[in-house]
Amino acid sequence: MFKGIDFYSDTMTKPTPPMLRQMVEAPVGDEQKGEDPTTIALEEKTAELLGKTAAVFLPSATMANQIAIQLHCNRGDELLAAENCHLFFAEAGGPAIHSGVMSRPIATPTGIFTGEQVKKTFRYWLGPHYPVSRLLSVENTTNMGGGLAWAKDELDSVLEAAKDLKLKTHLDGSRLFNAVVKTGLSPKVIASGFDSTTLCLSKGLGCPVGAVLAFDKEHSEKVRRLKQLMGGALRQSGILAAAGLYALENHVHRIKEDHDNATLLAQGLEGIAHLYVEKHPQATNMVFFRWVSKKISDQDFRKRLLDRGVRFSHVDPNRFRAVTHLNLAKADIEKAIGIIRSICNDI
Ligand SMILES: *Cc1c(COP(=O)(O)O)cnc(C)c1O
Repeated sequence: MFKGIDFYSDTMTKPTPPMLRQMVEAPVGDEQKGEDPTTIALEEKTAELLGKTAAVFLPSATMANQIAIQLHCNRGDELLAAENCHLFFAEAGGPAIHSGVMSRPIATPTGIFTGEQVKKTFRYWLGPHYPVSRLLSVENTTNMGGGLAWAKDELDSVLEAAKDLKLKTHLDGSRLFNAVVKTGLSPKVIASGFDSTTLCLSKGLGCPVGAVLAFDKEHSEKVRRLKQLMGGALRQSGILAAAGLYALENHVHRIKEDHDNATLLAQGLEGIAHLYVEKHPQATNMVFFRWVSKKISDQDFRKRLLDRGVRFSHVDPNRFRAVTHLNLAKADIEKAIGIIRSICNDI
C-alpha cells in the first residue's frame, strides 16, 4: 500500500471516524427485497436532491452508467459522448458488452462540447442501413478533460440540441458535487433536463463504496431488474448507504478546500522546470500536467516521485493527473510541491 502524499485519485479517501460510526449504527434490512431502511433513505434523499422522482443505490458509478445505457438504448443504437469520457475509456467496453451499443465519440480535449457538435455528430438518416443515434451522455465534471465543471449555458446548449433531436440524455455526475461547489448551481439545476444521473459516493464525497442512479419513477421496475441482472442487488447495504447520507450532510461544503488545494498545487507546479501545467478556469479538484523534459523519461520521473513519497496518476505518455481530496491537507500540497521542485532541480 502506498503511504505517501497520494494524488492518484479522490477514490483514495478513507472513511472518517464519524462516518464509520454512522455506518455501524445504521438500521439495516434486505435491500434486494426493498427492506433496507437506510438504503431507502439515501435513495429518497438523492432523488430529491437531483430533482428526479426515483433513485437506486448501486455498488459503483460504473454500474450506474451501464444500467443507464441499458435503460435508454436498444442493441445497435448509438451512444454519443465525449471521446475522452469514462464510459468510453474506463468501463472495460461495457457499453458494447452490456447494451450492444455503438460508440459515437465527440471530439473534445476538455470533455465539454456544444449543441452544435451534438447536431453534427447525430445521424439524421433513418432506414434499414443505419444505427439510430439514441443517447447523449455528458460528464460533469469531466475527468480526463481536466476535471472541468460545465457552465449553465454549456449544459443548456447540449440539452437543447438533444431535445430537438429527440435524444435521451444521461448525466455522468460522478463528481457532480465538485461541479456544484465550483459553479454555485444546485444539484437539481445541474441535473435538470437529463433523463438519468449518476452520482458517485466514493470520489470527492469520501465514502468507501457506492453510487446512486437517479431517474424518472416510471423506469423503476426496469432499473431494479437491470440492477439484479448486473449482480448489483444487495443485502444489508444500509451500512454503506449510511456513509452516503453522512457525506451528503457533511462533506459537500468542504469540497471547496479540495478546489483551493488544486489551485495551490497548479500554482506551485507552474514555475518548476521540466513541467507544463494545463490550467483552466473551470477546473475543480484536478491538476493535469505534462512532463516536457528530454533529460529523463516520464517513467523515470514517476519513479523518482514515488521514491520520495508522492504519487500521481500517469494518464498518458508524458501526462500526469493530480487529484485533491479529503485526505490531503494544505500542508501536504506544500510539501509535495517542495519535493517535486527538488526532484526537478536535480535533473
Ligand atoms: C470514477 C468515475 C466513474 C466510475 O466510478 P466507480 O464508482 O469507480 O465505478 C464514472 N464516471 C466518471 C466520470 C468517473 O470519474
